[in-house]
Amino acid sequence: DPYAAEAARYDSMDYPRCGRWGLRLPRISLGLWQNFGGHHPLDRQRGIILAAFDMGITHFDLANNYGPPPGSAETNFGGIFARDLAPYRDEIIVSTKAGYYMHPGPYGEWGSRKYLLSSLDASLSRMGLDYVDVFYHHRPDPDTPIEESMMALDQAVRSGKALYAGISNYGPAETEEAARILAELGTPLLIHQFKYSMYERTPEDGLLDALDQVGAGSIVFSPLAQGMLTDRYLTGIPAGSRITHSQFLHEEQVTETYLARTSALNEIAAGRGQSLAQLALQWVLRGGRVTSALVGASSVAQLKANVAALDFPELTEAEIAAIEPHAVH
Ligand code: NDP
Repeated sequence: DPYAAEAARYDSMDYPRCGRWGLRLPRISLGLWQNFGGHHPLDRQRGIILAAFDMGITHFDLANNYGPPPGSAETNFGGIFARDLAPYRDEIIVSTKAGYYMHPGPYGEWGSRKYLLSSLDASLSRMGLDYVDVFYHHRPDPDTPIEESMMALDQAVRSGKALYAGISNYGPAETEEAARILAELGTPLLIHQFKYSMYERTPEDGLLDALDQVGAGSIVFSPLAQGMLTDRYLTGIPAGSRITHSQFLHEEQVTETYLARTSALNEIAAGRGQSLAQLALQWVLRGGRVTSALVGASSVAQLKANVAALDFPELTEAEIAAIEPHAVH
């Protein structure tokens, strides 16, 4: 069937600005790291992506290596985009990244200008797009001067192949340096993408402060700790869950300590009449320091439930304090 976007799609989503910049992102964005690769059913992928857009999720996050196999998420997204979303290009923010291993040889990973710019061309070709909205350096490269990676981002923007520059997984000092270099080059740092959740608190040790300082936005990945901050694993390992198919999540992580902690948080969520996933999303967004929570989803139902988190009253100071003993430090 031909797709027509939901007319009311902008009625309930909130679109805060990225730091001090003009670009606004949805409070909840959709990532295609898992569940959108080669062996995931295309009709399910399409269903999730179109449901997202219908709910006001204007931002889709990719990277060169998403799959598996690497590149397949971009290829699949490109097919769905061409079929259904092309008329809405100006209403959609697509991001991609380069930095992790993509192909053999000296130019297949890390942060050289050679790798970053050739990878962006390959991503555009897989997605069938003329440009991406945000191009990220996916991880800092200890062996390449930050200048070189930032010059590549600046070039990507100047060439029109990306509209904005971003960094991911950079520490606080590296972030300040990257922002300084980008500002000198004339292409400011729009956004930083990093891991943050009740189970991953590292950004509280300087990174959030650095981002306030440089005025960049923040989009946080794995706010549900890949599903560990939901009720998914409280009573066993469900068939088809990420633990059963991902190389990045393992059954050994479901320990007694994990179960005790997660059950306690699940109770706090139940006391608010919501799911743990919804509590976890409200928690990363508390206080407005994070621009967008970047979730993954293996079904439309999960994504709908996650967006519904935005309908609950904000967490109170007392609730935040009650969560604290169960969060990881
Ligand atoms: P999440 O923490 O949101 O985990 C998503 C997974 O949680 C889903 O696949 C699903 O697991 C489970 N889940 C989601 N909603 C629910 C729900 N309502 N109830 C129960 N379980 C639920 O994020 P991801 O780890 O997927 O990361 C999100 C995005 O962040 C990625 O797609 C990518 O775009 C980006 N990212 C960036 C990185 C970087 O280095 N810059 C690194 C990692 C991610 P299941 O599949 O079992 O159903």
